[in-house]
Amino acid sequence: MARIKDESVRAVVAAADMVEVVSGRTALRKAGPRFSGRCPFHEERTPSFSVNPVEKLYHCFGCGKGGDVISFVRETENLDFVGALEWLAQRFRVTLDYEESSPQVEAARQRRDRLHALLEQATTFYERHLWDSAAGEPVRAYLAGRGLGEEVCREFRLGLSPGNGLARKAQEKGFTTDELRAAGLTNARGNDYFPPRLMFPLADARGRVIGFQARKLREDDPLRGKYVNTPETELFHKSAVLYGLHLARTAIAKQERAVVVEGNTDVIALRQVAFEPVVASMGTALTERQLKELQRLTRRIYLSFDSDAAGEDATLRGMELATTLGFDVRVV
Ligand SMILES: [Zn+2]
Repeated sequence: MARIKDESVRAVVAAADMVEVVSGRTALRKAGPRFSGRCPFHEERTPSFSVNPVEKLYHCFGCGKGGDVISFVRETENLDFVGALEWLAQRFRVTLDYEESSPQVEAARQRRDRLHALLEQATTFYERHLWDSAAGEPVRAYLAGRGLGEEVCREFRLGLSPGNGLARKAQEKGFTTDELRAAGLTNARGNDYFPPRLMFPLADARGRVIGFQARKLREDDPLRGKYVNTPETELFHKSAVLYGLHLARTAIAKQERAVVVEGNTDVIALRQVAFEPVVASMGTALTERQLKELQRLTRRIYLSFDSDAAGEDATLRGMELATTLGFDVRVV
């Protein structure tokens, strides 16, 4: 377990903007030296949630919840202490120092950081190609035709792989061929792994991209399968990922329920109409690891799979497994 140095903890708290952090969860109004708003931890009509921007503390006079900026992030993002600090450090651009650990542990951590940075660059590269290139036009039209607005597509960071150019660009920025391969972005020949496809970034709990699911767009696509995922890597294990969970986790915890659908675009479409506690199993039956991720947030799940044979099979298997793990399962 990584331990962050005390100086770094203080630096993160000093750099964090408490009002900005809380404003991501509830609208705040200035009230004298403090800010107030409706509590993000309980349902209420009149504001009883108070924020002290200088001391970076919060308190709710309704439900009694209170704490500092770190505990706020822990609660709202469902993270542990280290996770909350890393979340804040990333947001407010603070470099964290970790307690001395073995050189091997340190090297492994640095390598993971490099792979995360590379995947972040790849996501931006695909986003630009979707929104800013002529080649993106038919794909933008496809998304619009499915009723998905640009704003929500950008929130999920959808992109378009051009089929080549990513590997070269990443190498220009100093990433190695080994790192590209380890991140699942190139094939054995060193070329871009993904042909021209619609790219759905897949994120970990903190919202960092760890892989992609790529949807087929053209008949001459060399990869089989309507959907192709990043191969299993050091960071990416498909059986543990639920599409959209990083955006849905707060709503799942707060509403104490999770709706599981089959397709990524169903998640996006529901979020667009402000229905948030929803994730996708990415076209397969739920796995034990996916269910264990959900179990940290809720014990109640609703399965909403397609009504074809494959969907029914996935529903039955998901129900069985979820029931075994102690979930209250409903099919909708
Ligand atoms: Zn409250």
